[in-house]
Amino acid sequence: MSVEELEATVHRICSTVEEHSRWFEGALPLIASENLLSPYAKELLISDFHSRYAEGLPGERYYEGNHWVDVVEQECLRLARELFRCNFADVRPISGTVANIAVLKAMAEPGMQIGSCRLAEGAHISSAGFGAFGIRSVKQVYYAFDTHEMQLDVDATKRILLKERPPLALFGLSLFLFPFPLQELQETLRDIGALGWYDGAHVLGLIASGLFQDPLHEGCAVLSGSTHKTLPGPQHGILLSDSQDADLKKRLTSAAFPGVTSNHHLNEMAALAVSLAEQLAFGKDYSRMIVRNAKALGAALQQRGFQVLCAHKDFTESHQVAVRVEAEGGGDAVAKRLEAARIVVNKNLLPGDKSPKHPEGIRLGAQELTRVGMGPSDMDAVAEFMDDLLHKGKGPEEVGARVAEFKKGFTKVRYCFGAGEAAYRYYHLVEPALR
Ligand SMILES: *Cc1c(COP(=O)(O)O)cnc(C)c1O
Repeated sequence: MSVEELEATVHRICSTVEEHSRWFEGALPLIASENLLSPYAKELLISDFHSRYAEGLPGERYYEGNHWVDVVEQECLRLARELFRCNFADVRPISGTVANIAVLKAMAEPGMQIGSCRLAEGAHISSAGFGAFGIRSVKQVYYAFDTHEMQLDVDATKRILLKERPPLALFGLSLFLFPFPLQELQETLRDIGALGWYDGAHVLGLIASGLFQDPLHEGCAVLSGSTHKTLPGPQHGILLSDSQDADLKKRLTSAAFPGVTSNHHLNEMAALAVSLAEQLAFGKDYSRMIVRNAKALGAALQQRGFQVLCAHKDFTESHQVAVRVEAEGGGDAVAKRLEAARIVVNKNLLPGDKSPKHPEGIRLGAQELTRVGMGPSDMDAVAEFMDDLLHKGKGPEEVGARVAEFKKGFTKVRYCFGAGEAAYRYYHLVEPALR
């Protein structure tokens, strides 16, 4: 390609990203793992921190030029410990999966048995043999999962734990509706000498707000997570512990670096510090509204004939609801039809699905719509769009146009400091005149 063609390519890439952004402005993003950044956090992502390296810990770096990075990282660690009411944080894993690999490096011997849930019950790929668990050749000990309750069967799980005696027990899900019965299992874990490990990637923001559950104070030695799902920060990972075991914390520290990172994406770390402070300021209100909205969405969908899981216990205690859409054509077809109407969801395997290749469910998360100011009555409107599209034969064009119109009322990122309108908008640094 010529230089002129390459420049045209650069412009095309930029305008494609802009097109994406504009499409999302007029859409209803319901992917449960996504969220929007606050204006301060977004600005820090394109700061000079992005251009620098800082290996090691604040005050013990391998390179020079880290004075201000250290100041911010100390603050980030302090905020993390305050927010999660614990004595240890490491903010260097660059994603939730990387945080999980760090935990495996710190706490698992090759070939070790680890307790976990199955993928079909909502577990994340990082706890599968073909995912991160494979790195340690983990032998999985599956808990007993009650698919009606979408929660562990406590008695059966206790029996499995007593029989198999895994040294590490992981609690965490991607389809995550209800808290784990950690308190009920605590004694059994103690009896077999197993350490509890909680993967809170999805529910980290709720945990921070004192909702859902408090794994570090319900028997788990380590909490790992992503910082961009219900905690509305940058795409990054985190390790947390409130253990008194200094050796464990030392192992986690060296697993984070040099174990699974070299540089830890300092711009994200700074954005995370801001997001943690904002979560301390606004997180309780935000999290409460997320869960309220998720329950309202579940109820509104059920009223319109959708088969929402766990209606007998108010659908959910998290940001998610799961809907069995077999009658509407299956997870794949439904997710595609919704996308054509600007409603963004993912198909999701549900317990009892006949084939892992054909998920019969969709998963919806209320955290991003809540972030832009929606409340329970807006969840009713969302359910109405889905009903029109999937039950009443309205076309995706028509519903999509109504979705875009509806979304015009929500163009500001909330629950944060600064100009939320600016954070919502797509903006240009270079050549704004070009586009
Ligand atoms: C999302 C998720 C992760 C990690 O995801 P990243 O994209 O690597 O941050 C880990 N565990 C669970 C249960 C998840 O849902």
